[in-house]
Amino acid sequence: MAVNKKKAVVLLSGGLDSATALAVALKEGYSCYSLSFLYGQRHRLELNAAERVAKAMGVERHMVLDIGLGCLGGSALTDRIEVPKYEEMRTLPEGIPSTYVPARNTVFLAYALAWAEVLRAPDIFIGVNAVDYSGYPDCRPEYIGAFESMANLAIKAAVEGSLLIRIHTPLMHLTKAEIIRTGSELGVDYSLTHSCYDPQPNGLACGQCASCRLRLKGFQEAGLIDPIPYANPRPPSAGRR
Ligand code: ZN
Repeated sequence: MAVNKKKAVVLLSGGLDSATALAVALKEGYSCYSLSFLYGQRHRLELNAAERVAKAMGVERHMVLDIGLGCLGGSALTDRIEVPKYEEMRTLPEGIPSTYVPARNTVFLAYALAWAEVLRAPDIFIGVNAVDYSGYPDCRPEYIGAFESMANLAIKAAVEGSLLIRIHTPLMHLTKAEIIRTGSELGVDYSLTHSCYDPQPNGLACGQCASCRLRLKGFQEAGLIDPIPYANPRPPSAGRR
């Protein structure tokens, strides 16, 4: 690591968005410390993906924290609630979906903040996005701004004036297609990522959950081929709006 290179903590889920956010942070010259969580999700595929992405992109250090958030339930991603499937992109419902995990980004950002203070890293990157799927309240700019204000009231280094925390959301106002184009230009290998909420037992993405639908639509609109395999037969309406 170069001396005095600025450090950033990057939340890395193993999905397409966070891999792109990491690529942006690296492009901006940060020495990156990526952070993933075992929080009670149904499968470890996304954690394996996060580790692949972190290694391929050359982070300074990758950390996986085992936290008990999923024990509280309340989400289709952690509880015995069926993950909704959609025949077509346009059938995605309005409002906050059952795949919302109560307070997840607040918990994740709190851990990122703690690590940032320890590392003396003023910058935290998170791949939230408010354009293509705005159902999650903890992905909105108002929420991120409020967390950043709170962060600078919460930690010793900020109160003493030696660290000013900034939360970076480079994808906030990009469409999924723009995110994919940005990442592709920065050399992100999307074959390493995992987005599906409800993969098959063999690990293949289902192609029909909201996350798969958005991903397929994004690649289609970007004019690129999604390099990951999907459960067969591939849905004929994949990506169509
Ligand atoms: Zn899926």
